[in-house]
Amino acid sequence: TEACLGAIDAADALGAFVHKTPEIATERARAADDRIKSGDAPDLCGIPLGIKDLFCTEAVPSQAASKILTDFRPEYESTVSAKLRDAGAVMLGKLNMDEFAMGSSNETSTYGNAVNPWKVDDRSLTPGGSSGGSASAVAADLCLGATGTDTGGSIRQPAAFTGITGLKPTYGRCSRWGIIAFASSLDQAGPMAKDVRDTAILLSAMCGHDEKDSTSADLPVPDFEAALTGDIKGKTIGIPREYRMEGMPEEIEALWAEGRKMLEDAGAKVVDISLPHTKYALPTYYVIAPAEASSNLARYDGVRFGRRAKLDQGDGIVEMYEKTRAEGFGAEVKRRVMVGTYVLSAGFYDAYYNRARKVRTLIKRDFDEAFDQGVDAILTPTTPSAAFGLGEMTEADPVQMYLNDVFTVTVNLAGLPGISVPAGTDKQGLPLGLQLIGRPWEEADLLNTAYALE
Ligand code: GLN
Repeated sequence: TEACLGAIDAADALGAFVHKTPEIATERARAADDRIKSGDAPDLCGIPLGIKDLFCTEAVPSQAASKILTDFRPEYESTVSAKLRDAGAVMLGKLNMDEFAMGSSNETSTYGNAVNPWKVDDRSLTPGGSSGGSASAVAADLCLGATGTDTGGSIRQPAAFTGITGLKPTYGRCSRWGIIAFASSLDQAGPMAKDVRDTAILLSAMCGHDEKDSTSADLPVPDFEAALTGDIKGKTIGIPREYRMEGMPEEIEALWAEGRKMLEDAGAKVVDISLPHTKYALPTYYVIAPAEASSNLARYDGVRFGRRAKLDQGDGIVEMYEKTRAEGFGAEVKRRVMVGTYVLSAGFYDAYYNRARKVRTLIKRDFDEAFDQGVDAILTPTTPSAAFGLGEMTEADPVQMYLNDVFTVTVNLAGLPGISVPAGTDKQGLPLGLQLIGRPWEEADLLNTAYALE
């Protein structure tokens, strides 16, 4: 813990930690020492971790990287961070992210962006988003692991951009209670770590049924680490032809082929499959996610949470809402709220929101069919490129940024588990990731297949 706290202070320029909690860390580390001495050490006893700012942590600022939640210190602890604490983990502080987890580059954060510890010449690169601070902190050895959340790729894409491992569990595996909501039918918490084994250990501690989240599954929590045998003989891996996008860089193609070969060499059977509705995934996601976000973000009204704008004499309740939201939300969040309220409005609900829900079902059925045909996991690239430069995408049309999520959003729409593992580099030496998508609730199997790719 001491070494990590020192490393964090020395790495302020990365912008990974946005609230440091050295007192809490030291106190928990001491308690961990005592538990180890008394022979009663739980699994994560003394392991220093970072927590994404989207998780409510008791008495510690929890801002979702938004100005509107300035000074918000929850009176409660999210279920996931409480489970990690109870397993002995030491919280070092809160990690940077895109505002309300909306973004793919960590640049929508009110704190300013986190930076990727990987560099090409003098070009500063994004660590990805929205869990950019988590990825940057793990990749730079500021902590041994971190929590992330993934609504459309926010664990897997930053993991790929920084050369670490990140897993989005099956929807319902981890409790969403106490995690600031973005799009409730898509949001899932998950671990980000150096390798598959650490990811497995963290996942076992984070997940499990929670009465406080009605969508959390009442299923036993496997010992995910015990599943890591590396034996994948007889497994069937699907390669979806629709993920072979036009204009995809050759090095991503090459990486994908290499992943295929590694799995074959390990004894798996690799087959070509079709997921025909893939091309509708991005537009479907960018209707459903903003729709749910616009509803979830209605609670920031200047009364219940965080900050209220300064009001003028004579201002009424409407001015309070308007001024608070106008100055509290950043541009991307406002864009999502506007898109979301538009697609949910009476005249457009059927044409957009309802249609997107139907297409979502078709996307899920594509996966069901592949699994019914005996496919155990699906191999794809995690992202269509390596990390891009900070500022390179923000000036452009926001849709350019959304395109970065092309391989990850399908997994959230279908509620499936997905993992990104580091898999080589591009021509410039920047890390690239491969994604494995698994059957629902079969994270143990998925982790084991990922282990064979490591
Ligand atoms: N980049 C996607 C978005 O902006 C996904 C974000 C996420 O997974 N939280 O919505």
